[in-house]
Amino acid sequence: MAPALLSVERPESLTAQAARKPTSILHRTPWRLPVAQSADGSYVTLENGQRLLDAVGGAAVTCIGNGHPKVVQAIKDQVDKVSYVYSMQLSNQPAEELARYIVSSSNGAFELVGIVSGGSEAMEAVLKLSRQYFVEKKQPQRKNFIARHLSFHGNTLGTLSLASHVGRRAPYEAILDHENFHHVSPAYAKRFQRPDETEEQYVERLRQELDDKFQELGPDTVIGFAAETVVGATTGVVPPPNGYFKAIKSVCDKYGALFILDEVMSGMGRLGSLHAWETFADDISPDIQAVAKGLGGGYGSIGAVLVSKKVADGIRDTSGFWKHGHTYQAHPLACAASLAVQKVIVEENLLENARKMGAHLSMLLREKLLSPNCIAAPYVFDIRGAGCWWGVEFDFDGPQCRRLDLKGANFAIVVQQRALDKGLIIMGMTGTATLDGSKGDVIMLSPAYNITKEQVEDIVTVFVATVEEVLSESFVE
Ligand SMILES: *Cc1c(COP(=O)(O)O)cnc(C)c1O
Repeated sequence: MAPALLSVERPESLTAQAARKPTSILHRTPWRLPVAQSADGSYVTLENGQRLLDAVGGAAVTCIGNGHPKVVQAIKDQVDKVSYVYSMQLSNQPAEELARYIVSSSNGAFELVGIVSGGSEAMEAVLKLSRQYFVEKKQPQRKNFIARHLSFHGNTLGTLSLASHVGRRAPYEAILDHENFHHVSPAYAKRFQRPDETEEQYVERLRQELDDKFQELGPDTVIGFAAETVVGATTGVVPPPNGYFKAIKSVCDKYGALFILDEVMSGMGRLGSLHAWETFADDISPDIQAVAKGLGGGYGSIGAVLVSKKVADGIRDTSGFWKHGHTYQAHPLACAASLAVQKVIVEENLLENARKMGAHLSMLLREKLLSPNCIAAPYVFDIRGAGCWWGVEFDFDGPQCRRLDLKGANFAIVVQQRALDKGLIIMGMTGTATLDGSKGDVIMLSPAYNITKEQVEDIVTVFVATVEEVLSESFVE
């Protein structure tokens, strides 16, 4: 054994440093977290002085980075005017203006907006509004929702019931609603399209499966079908096959059920268009949609329910109001922050920048990771996405793969932690590739829409070096 003095040790990891610090927070990770002290643009500085480049915007949240002067000013101005009024008593200016902006930028897709405090609240509210719609339409027998396996719609009991992800549901299975929530297959061609099937046949199979599910439940008992336009946290940036949403919507229309999209992660510009359905759902707008992460960009705790004319009319023609609410609904500070974020996206032409930088990012990822000189190349299963949202999926089963020993750890999580130590924030996801969540490693990259070319290059350099480092340490001779 080499004497200790000669051994080349890596500097102590950030999580090991954090583990020594006491905390009173009920944290959501099994490991301790380093503490952020300040942040500007896409950089975050920790208490120990280390500067990190955020390549994933938290969880695809900080879409224009931290500390944008215009948003900071808008929040300061709003707190001087009105910090809070209760939405059952008074409306407020930034909420009114934000809702107007969302409606006016939707090309007629939406007529009303309900504002809540986050993504789960938005999806929970979508469920209740959909039910309210049918109660008011005198179809109270409609009580079933259909969603998809390998989906995520939030962490409340309602949204956990709606979605289907083994790991997230496991401890709560016994108290989830199994009666009103049903699931069909994901639309994930690279994993689930059969080798003897064309894309068209795959879509037709999925359409038929949904139709069969309606028949099984009783077509007039279904409230709606809900899906993420592009799947985020469960499979890692998975767009639907061509024609999928057109086929799915035709089934909903046939049986008078609602077509619901969850764009909490994919919406508000993440994919280079304001709504993901403009790029990935054959331009078919939903009857109801949830948005959140990119809506507030992290500056305010906010989510929204976007309501089409059809559903808006259904409510307006009857009771005329939303039978749902939270105390912090339409919060003036969150709305002012969100409105300022949306204005920055327009004024600085950031959707175009997101598309350009995303194209550069994916080009570099492919060039580096798929190069014959890259030891990671045999393990790269898929590089997919659009705009400022990309997933890199790894697979270790190929015949070309050398044997790896990851010592029981998940590759994506090890890569995420090692990248953090190297100053890069990325997100690792596991259990993405099979319905039971037993296999799959994806790294998600979702930088801010105002990321620069140099920052994109830094992201790819550190990311690829990290992947190579973790792999080379794991080879079994
Ligand atoms: C993040 C997310 C949610 C939940 O949003 P929270 O703000 O975390 O409550 C719901 N649906 C999708 C698709 C998401 O990505």
